[in-house]
Order: sequence, then structure tokens, then C-alpha cells
Amino acid sequence: MRIDVVSIFPSYFDGLTLSLLGKAQSTGILDLRIHDLRDWTHDRHRTVDDTPYGGGAGMVMKPEPWGLALDQLAAGADGGPRPTIIFPSPAGEVFHQSTARELADREHLIFGCGRYEGIDERVFEEAAELGEVRLISLGDYVLNGGEVAVMAMVEAIGRLIPGVVGNPESLVEESHEDGLLEYPSYTKPSVWRDREVPPILLSGNHGAIAAWRREQQVERTRRRRPDLLAGED
Ligand code: SAM
Repeated sequence: MRIDVVSIFPSYFDGLTLSLLGKAQSTGILDLRIHDLRDWTHDRHRTVDDTPYGGGAGMVMKPEPWGLALDQLAAGADGGPRPTIIFPSPAGEVFHQSTARELADREHLIFGCGRYEGIDERVFEEAAELGEVRLISLGDYVLNGGEVAVMAMVEAIGRLIPGVVGNPESLVEESHEDGLLEYPSYTKPSVWRDREVPPILLSGNHGAIAAWRREQQVERTRRRRPDLLAGED
């Protein structure tokens, strides 16, 4: 998969060279390219923002650098399928595990990180000429910029690309994969500071362990995230 990220703070993404996603890049499974939006400006100050029409507080990201950036990056995939262009936004659809699964199947994603009061609305219309446009929110709160949201999305999507996580089994029994939260996990020692691992996990009875874990999933979800069970009969 190819992922292009456009930001005015490209160094935010240094962390994506670490761990599993770093390895996926060195083995060629993931082609992650980070770009500075200011490289598509043409004035001395490399300006990316201006005052909002209609007045109001804050600045708005200018359309011109975004237009040039998206034209170039979408054209880079010439011959391939149209890219999916994602703008993180608190006013977008909420990102879920199902969104990550859907996007992990795409060949080319482009992320555009907003700052200030956001990006001139016409950029989204123009981007729709180049690919599928999605405005996606990390949750119902406001961040200073799209970078943290994009890092979270790239990590959630990237770990679902085949070959990124060594043991694909470990992707199946995760929170949100089956609509429930994951069961509690324990490792050695079996007693730590007088706290014991639940004895069932030491029993070797795989059927009983699976049943216990399922119960724990349901109980934990009911307690912490009853909204996830709301669709239940
Ligand atoms: N004025 C915008 C609004 O009220 O919808 C918020 C702008 S916010 C300060 C600047 C940028 O941060 C946004 O353009 C977006 O890229 C990013 N951002 C903020 N909150 C976000 C969230 N919950 N999810 C995804 N991106 C977010």
C-alpha cells in the first residue's frame, strides 16, 4: 500500500519509522511518504493560511498549495486506481475499526492534515475530481491539527495490511473486532504481589478457557462500553 501524508509539521510522523510500521516500510509492504505542504507554496514566506472570508477568529488554510499537492500526489498513482483522499476533521464521520478494515484494502491513501480553523472548503470539492474524499474524525473533541489523528489512523490501518503483524491470529482476538472489548490478559509469574492469575487460565482446559474469556468480554463490555451492546436483542 502507498500512503502519502501532507502536513505543515512533517516531523510529527518520525514515530512511524519505529516498530512494526517501520519494519513494514523497510520490507516494502508499506510505502509511506511524508510531505511538507509548504513545498507547494511559491511566496517568500511559504504562506499556507489567510484570514477567513466573512470574518471570525483564526486563520484558514489557503486552497492553492493544497490543490498543487493533491494534483501531484494523485497523479503519482497514474495508471493505478484513484486514491482515497482523507482529511481528518472533527466534523467528519467517526473512525472505527471497521473504517480501518475498509481502508486497509485500498492501494493508495492520501492524508491531508488541517491546521488553524481548517482547510478552505473548495479543496474538498476539488479533491473529489481526483479520488474518493473522506472527512474522518478521531472522536468528538477538537485537536490543534490533523497530525495526531492521521498517526492514529495510519497505525490502525497499517497493522491490518497483510504481513505487517507477524502473527495474523493476534489481529482476530482484539477489542472491536467482534463488537466486544478484549478479555483480560496475564503473563508470568502466576502470583505477583499476592495477586493471582485466574486459576482457569492455568487449567489447560482450552474449551473452559475460551468460555471464560467470552464471559469476560461480555461483562467488560457491559460495564465499560454498554453502547457497544445496545444493538443486542
Ligand atoms: N474549526 C474546525 C471545526 O470546528 O470543525 C476545527 C479545526 S482544528 C483546530 C484544526 C485541524 O485539526 C482540523 O482541520 C483537523 O485536521 C484536525 N482535527 C481537530 N480535531 C480533530 C478530530 N477530532 N479528528 C480528526 N481531526 C481533527
